[in-house]
Amino acid sequence: MDSGLIDKLAGVVGKDGVLTTPEDLAAYSYDGTFAEGAPDVVVLPRSTEQTADVMKLAAETRTPVVARGMGSGLAAGSIPAVAGGMVVSFTRMNRILEIDPRNSTVFTQSGVVTATLQAEVEKLGLFYPPDPSSIKHSTIGGNIACNAGGPRCLKYGVTGNYVLGLTVVLADGRVLRTGGKPIKDVTGYNLNGLFTSSEGTLGLVTEALLRLVARPRHAKTALAEFDSLDNAARAVNEVLAEGIVPASLELMDQTAIACIEEAMHLGLETDVAASLIIETDGADEATVTREAEAAGRICRNVGARTVKVAQTEEERAGLWKARRSISPSLARKAPNKLGEDITVPRSAIPEVVQKIRAISQKHGLPIVIFGHAGDGNLHPNILFDKRDAGQWAKVEEMVREIFAVALAVGGTLSGEHGVGVLKRPYFEQALGPVSVAVQRAVKAALDPLGILNPGKMFA
Ligand SMILES: Cc1cc2nc3c(=O)[nH]c(=O)nc-3n(C[C@H](O)[C@H](O)[C@H](O)COP(=O)(O)OP(=O)(O)OC[C@H]3O[C@@H](n4cnc5c(N)ncnc54)[C@H](O)[C@@H]3O)c2cc1C
Repeated sequence: MDSGLIDKLAGVVGKDGVLTTPEDLAAYSYDGTFAEGAPDVVVLPRSTEQTADVMKLAAETRTPVVARGMGSGLAAGSIPAVAGGMVVSFTRMNRILEIDPRNSTVFTQSGVVTATLQAEVEKLGLFYPPDPSSIKHSTIGGNIACNAGGPRCLKYGVTGNYVLGLTVVLADGRVLRTGGKPIKDVTGYNLNGLFTSSEGTLGLVTEALLRLVARPRHAKTALAEFDSLDNAARAVNEVLAEGIVPASLELMDQTAIACIEEAMHLGLETDVAASLIIETDGADEATVTREAEAAGRICRNVGARTVKVAQTEEERAGLWKARRSISPSLARKAPNKLGEDITVPRSAIPEVVQKIRAISQKHGLPIVIFGHAGDGNLHPNILFDKRDAGQWAKVEEMVREIFAVALAVGGTLSGEHGVGVLKRPYFEQALGPVSVAVQRAVKAALDPLGILNPGKMFA
């Protein structure tokens, strides 16, 4: 990269905000997948103004810009997909600027870690519900860019449901401010919605105004264990059909449970076919308990072997520790995993699970299935060794078959991880040519030089 540009970038963000050594660049070449790709330079702005000046320099020199939060993404979205270019990392923009209890909002820089923001608002009795399992190592900006979900999103909705306003640096360096504190706002297009889940392809999110709710004072968490995965999937539908909307309804299959137990020694039964973690929450303890008991009863009626309700906060934390440990514990089973993120109509879960298992058997590679079953959002994780070319070829075919299964039942490629590089080949198949043409037109209008996260989604 031109040393003149590096000097100008240092002039904007300071010398310590520009990284160019091979060691530093290597640290920004990975995300939560097995993909890799090094930038020519990493820039760490501290403000919207600095980000805008960096973007102006990128536009002048037609340098590709890849936005990056914590790099926990599971679609290779924050890794340069075309040679070199610039990564703009938001980890230094980690200040919470205002918590407004009267309007239940928080205004924050986009690089704040999600768990930090949650902890700060909870000190004031407020609650920011979106809870990706990566809350401790992902940023609000990354969550917005991918419209992150999580276990609690069944009842509370996903990140996009909490975005009231954004500060976005556009491809030419102009600063766009959207939305505001009014809850209702139909003045013009829904630009919050446009930038949410745009994966860094339309602009750089530097600040966000987020809606908060009152912190639920009570929660009950139960583990229902099933001898049949079909019955676990049926229980999900029956609980919801009863009018109970738990905060979370999480599914783990036998392989997932066995992996967690092997890694964490939490005392989980490993001979069950599937488990559901069910959490009810709210302001009224009696209602929360009644709903938890009703959900447990339904699970038993549908064939649950056992339903264990956490009796202490420690037991509850243990169940969530188990759920959040699935991804890391799979690493003990195989050198690589490819975690998919399909979403299907809830009623199709049993059929989809069966078909995914058939794909696993056909190709002889394990697929671990877990996910936010209440949302129909499943994470089939293929375990493999990428060094083995034969296995990699099988994985590519298995992914294609898994997507075909999801699309055939009216589902979609991604519920929360985004498209990035990994799902790019299937984008048009999922959306059709008209939708892709509309999205290309939006992209061309906002980023005519094509410098924002090139090679991602369809761009
Ligand atoms: C163990 C594990 C568990 C996970 N669990 C969940 C889960 O339950 N739910 C879920 O939704 N996801 C989950 N994820 C995926 C990942 O954590 C989310 O996609 C998260 O939102 C990414 O945040 P990040 O800050 O790490 O973003 P990055 O990985 O750095 O970037 C992700 C994408 O967002 C863009 N981006 C980042 N910051 C900005 C910005 N400020 N402006 C514009 N674009 C930006 C990047 O260009 C990239 O396209 C998990 C990941 C791991 C490793």
